[in-house]
Amino acid sequence: LDFSYGSGESSKQVLFNNNLSIYPGEIVIMTGPSGSGKTTLLTLIGGLRSVQAGGLKVLGRELKGMSAAGLQEVRRNIGFIFQQHNLFDSLTALQTLAVAMQLKSYPDEEFIRRPERILGELGLADRMNYKPENLSGGQRQRVAIGRALINDPLIILADEPTAALDKVTSAQVIELFKRRVKEYNCTIIIVTHDNRILDAADRVINMVDGNIESNIVVADALAIMRFLKDCNIFKDMHQSFLADAANSMKLEIYPSGALVIREGDVGDKFYLIRQGQAEVFSGQGEARKSLASLGPGDFFGELALLKDVPRAASVVAEGKLEVYTLSKDKFIELVGRSSSFEEHLKKSYFH
Ligand code: ADP
Ligand code: MG
Repeated sequence: LDFSYGSGESSKQVLFNNNLSIYPGEIVIMTGPSGSGKTTLLTLIGGLRSVQAGGLKVLGRELKGMSAAGLQEVRRNIGFIFQQHNLFDSLTALQTLAVAMQLKSYPDEEFIRRPERILGELGLADRMNYKPENLSGGQRQRVAIGRALINDPLIILADEPTAALDKVTSAQVIELFKRRVKEYNCTIIIVTHDNRILDAADRVINMVDGNIESNIVVADALAIMRFLKDCNIFKDMHQSFLADAANSMKLEIYPSGALVIREGDVGDKFYLIRQGQAEVFSGQGEARKSLASLGPGDFFGELALLKDVPRAASVVAEGKLEVYTLSKDKFIELVGRSSSFEEHLKKSYFH
């Protein structure tokens, strides 16, 4: 992706040959010196500027050559938090959010309930009926954040969202972002120099002179990706598939003897053993029958998810057990995305 401001002799190229993939559920931090092109890139991703050269796919749709109406449609799924927050002087915090809700259709009662909930989460419960002139800079900024989140956007683009916030409210906003990503599997791209936010990032992009100089998947996900590559079922998978899987996995630790899944229960997760051993068994008491012993790299729990049937067996931790888990939805999505992943799963059935 390239981009230039102006045309003819006065044209100035500010983005050069950028390549980048960002996945659902990622919190991406973008850093880089002033003038390096961060805001320009963000406005391109948000469909606020036309793509000139190269390509840019957002939510599966190519923005290059897209009509104004098409771009407007894409923008409906995006929440913008920009430095100039442009709040209307005449609207209270609650009204600001309610007006933004008119982009979508909601039942009447939601026009109060939804803004109240989000403003509450932003620590503005006692400021809901205040207009901008009676709010501090940080409070105004949080109203703008609430406005960006009100329609549950799939992508949130935030340019220095915590610059005007004190330590406590900044942490509150970051917590809200993290919760959002977990609950809605949305994607958040944050331009910031705030080191406190780095902890929340899944990926850190550094821009220098209009080019992405580095693009780093952060610690946990990276370690999971390395591990996945060594597992039989994941070893043939594409890098982007692994990144998506890794970013969606959670580490769970079970003490010795803990029951991880119970025969007959509804299946809600897929499990991949990181460390330790687990025993698969069916029945109880005298009828208990050991079916298999599993170790690092082995997986279980897929059958109930693929076939939508109750758990066919129980699994118990033999010693301390560390597993990576995927939610049912994510697992089904990954299976749908890769036929070879599905093949590997089917071949590996032992139960
Ligand atoms: P950053 O957000 O990293 O500070 P920007 O994307 O705002 O960088 O700017 C990148 C370059 O593009 C800078 O050299 C800046 O001067 C220039 N630029 C930004 N906006 C405009 C504009 N509207 N017209 C012309 N040049 C611009
Ligand atoms: Mg900027």
